Amino acid sequence: MQTEGYIHSIETFGTLDGPGVRYVIFMQGCALRCAFCHNPDTWRIGTGRRITVDELVEDIQSYRPYFQSSGGGVTVSGGEPLLQTDFLTLLFQRLEGLGMHKVLDSGGFADLERIKDLINITDLFMLSIKHGDLSRYPEICGSSSERPMALARYLTRMEKPVWIRYVIIPGVTGQKKDLEQLADRIRRMPNVEKVELLPYNTMGVYKWEYLGLHYSLKDIAAPDEQQMAEVRTYLQGLLPSLAIY
Ligand code: SF4
Repeated sequence: MQTEGYIHSIETFGTLDGPGVRYVIFMQGCALRCAFCHNPDTWRIGTGRRITVDELVEDIQSYRPYFQSSGGGVTVSGGEPLLQTDFLTLLFQRLEGLGMHKVLDSGGFADLERIKDLINITDLFMLSIKHGDLSRYPEICGSSSERPMALARYLTRMEKPVWIRYVIIPGVTGQKKDLEQLADRIRRMPNVEKVELLPYNTMGVYKWEYLGLHYSLKDIAAPDEQQMAEVRTYLQGLLPSLAIY
């Protein structure tokens, strides 16, 4: 088992990535190339800060009172955390022993058989769906939807709590037909507790430029509050019993 992993950064008082106050670990490495990615600096695999499970657990323990009083815990995000499944399985096993709440925030791009042990000890899975129209996954992230959807079906079979994350890119992912397909998919997942709609933003464009990468969405403006409210209202109408944020 792999006791060392590569991380990009740590946020010790996160409030956006799961319930309560959270210790958020951003893992280094991602094989995808999402057109809207604002962290292309997390992409390179095998770089970043090397850290052991013991070091992480010791640091996490010092924040424990904040988790307990807020119903929080530990979230692992990325990059794509599932690229370091062995390391995270060890970490989550340790956290499980300490009674801590564990969230995985991922696009679900992994071989299902390899990640089942990790999934089984994860308390909440935050699954990013890249496009409501699954045939457009390659256009958005450079990979097919096959693995994430196999994972989505497994999470449903296991009755694992899931929050869905979906980025609204005007004219690309936020049209009514996209939302209708997204809603169809979510209806088949009674384990989904919540849907988070995230406005596409251009905050990471400078990183693409710095890395000498071509940013294909540069002519698309971020959605304003009214556009987001309209999308939210429309999706809420399609999924009336779900919490849509
Ligand atoms: S999965 Fe996340 S880190 Fe990887 S390219 Fe997509 S947005 Fe960026």
